[in-house]
Amino acid sequence: MFSVPHPTIMNLREHIDGFRTSILQHFPETERSAISLGLNLNSRTVEGATVHAEALMMALAHSVSSPSGRKDLQDVLNVNKDCEEVLSKTEQSNIAVSKKCCWCCWQLYRYWNRDDSDGPSTSVEPHTVGAPRFALLGIHSTVYPWSPPPVGVPIEFLRMLATKLQKMLIDVLKSSHRSRQEASLGTLSP
Ligand SMILES: [Zn+2]
Repeated sequence: MFSVPHPTIMNLREHIDGFRTSILQHFPETERSAISLGLNLNSRTVEGATVHAEALMMALAHSVSSPSGRKDLQDVLNVNKDCEEVLSKTEQSNIAVSKKCCWCCWQLYRYWNRDDSDGPSTSVEPHTVGAPRFALLGIHSTVYPWSPPPVGVPIEFLRMLATKLQKMLIDVLKSSHRSRQEASLGTLSP
């Protein structure tokens, strides 16, 4: 029916360097070189990010529920009228994925379902009339490389997701740096 191109980022090296710099700014200058060692960023890990099936299905269904979204579907993915009709029948759909979804897909699900709870839920929240509804199986705790679908995901959500992920990364780097320091102090003590 249509295909979704593999995501690519122009000037990837520059983006990775800029990201590393922005993360290191959260640490004192004296700790930055040590922290940088634990920040294993390279183009291969970023290029491995794919568009996950659950996120794509939610984004496609949301796109088809608005005129501007339908235009994006045609312009970006060249979706034809038959396919648009199939997508428009998702007012009540269960996404059929045999595994629990990843952390990022779950955030997208919660965003569209206005779910502020932390735990998994398979209930479908009240929603805007005409907007698609989904029920996912739940979440596993792993954060996988994740690329946003090429249509349908609001920039507001992506900014929120980036902020949450950066905070998680900084917390992990802080805690592993602290553990390394404690381990080296333990080695030095008699
Ligand atoms: Zn996912």
